Amino acid sequence: MSYDQYEEVKKESQVIEGTDQSRMVKRVGTRIQRAVEQYFQEQGQSDYLADYRWEFNLIKEDETVNAWCMPGGKVAFYTGIMPICKDETGVAVVMGHEIAHAIANHGSERMSQQYAASTGLSLASVLLTGGSGPTPSSEMILRAAGAGTSMGILAFSRKHESEADKLGLYFMAMAGYDPQEAPKFWERMAANSSGKAPPEFMSTHPSHDTRISDLNANMPKALAYYNKSK
Ligand SMILES: [Zn+2]
Repeated sequence: MSYDQYEEVKKESQVIEGTDQSRMVKRVGTRIQRAVEQYFQEQGQSDYLADYRWEFNLIKEDETVNAWCMPGGKVAFYTGIMPICKDETGVAVVMGHEIAHAIANHGSERMSQQYAASTGLSLASVLLTGGSGPTPSSEMILRAAGAGTSMGILAFSRKHESEADKLGLYFMAMAGYDPQEAPKFWERMAANSSGKAPPEFMSTHPSHDTRISDLNANMPKALAYYNKSK
């Protein structure tokens, strides 16, 4: 479902190819992908990623301060978030965080909740019975990934944000990017929050101070990964 949806997004958007920025997004994505694969290998769960078909694209939308990763490893960055990322390490902060949401299945959890709320059926039961029942709408799939800009996007829960922050920090560090840049990225995002950032990137969710102190609490382990990567 998310592969089809990703193709739709690409068709309807201006995907940028061959610029320094678009190459940077692909390069960071590939490095984080390898880190994620290594992470699961070390846990003896390499088959966890068997269904992943990774792809990393930059979309021309200067007003959109957003990035997301669908289940299956389909990533989109919008040009509007690039000035806040500032450099390659900033891109790695966002890439690690968004991929962590997908890896931890936060989108599927949200989609199941939305689906149950709108139909009274569980998404899993519909999929298991071969789709007898209304299929989830494309909007639902996009919203689950944190995609879309004009449709009221749900914020991830506080718990999901903490998980994505922690795992994202480890992934970027394993990929050889300095995790100490992560709190600095979120400071920049908070300074920009008067703009049009969707809930995923609003400083109020989770509270900015909590996010920074959580990141710092996970920093020693992240730095151990970072030093090992060099
Ligand atoms: Zn998030």
